[in-house]
Amino acid sequence: MRIGYGWDSHAFQAGVPLILGGLPFDHPQGLAGHSDGDVLLHALTDALLGAVAAGDIGTFFPPGDPRWKNADSALFLQTALEEVEHAGYKISNVDTTLILAAPKIGPVAEKLRERVAELLAIDPGCVGIKAKTPEGLHQDDVAVAHAVVLLEKFEEGGALEQMAAVAEPQKQMDDVVRKLVDRTTEPVRKPVFNTDDIT
Ligand SMILES: [Zn+2]
Repeated sequence: MRIGYGWDSHAFQAGVPLILGGLPFDHPQGLAGHSDGDVLLHALTDALLGAVAAGDIGTFFPPGDPRWKNADSALFLQTALEEVEHAGYKISNVDTTLILAAPKIGPVAEKLRERVAELLAIDPGCVGIKAKTPEGLHQDDVAVAHAVVLLEKFEEGGALEQMAAVAEPQKQMDDVVRKLVDRTTEPVRKPVFNTDDIT
């Protein structure tokens, strides 16, 4: 099992489309950033990378790189998922908290949960989306996201691993039998000499 944690923040900016968790929102302000500013996917990406000690989002996608200008953050998440898979893990569940003054997340929370689950290729029942307003923080112009992920070893105790556990002793036994058979069937070398020479 592995645990990962990530968080991110982006400032609201007028005239920018708002995208959260890969979902476009009808809102007068979006999140400023080099990419599409999807604060939720950035926090999730960092949590996934952190869980397998693979660095952070900036390691893979430096903010100064023109290739990631206005980039779809689902691409960042996809890269993190590949790192998780490469390390031999799969997602058990994720939990997230969004902190923002507006828009209200409640009415679209279910849709958001389904979209994030789709991007992570897991069941929506394994995705937690919670939203809070920044009470007392005086940060109404900022969106913050926190994310935790739990990973489990791929096929841990699963069918493939069980097959491998059975196959290994069988393979060792086959090797022993093969060696015994080789020994008994090895042609016996007779000493080669000419008896005439011994006189
Ligand atoms: Zn970000």
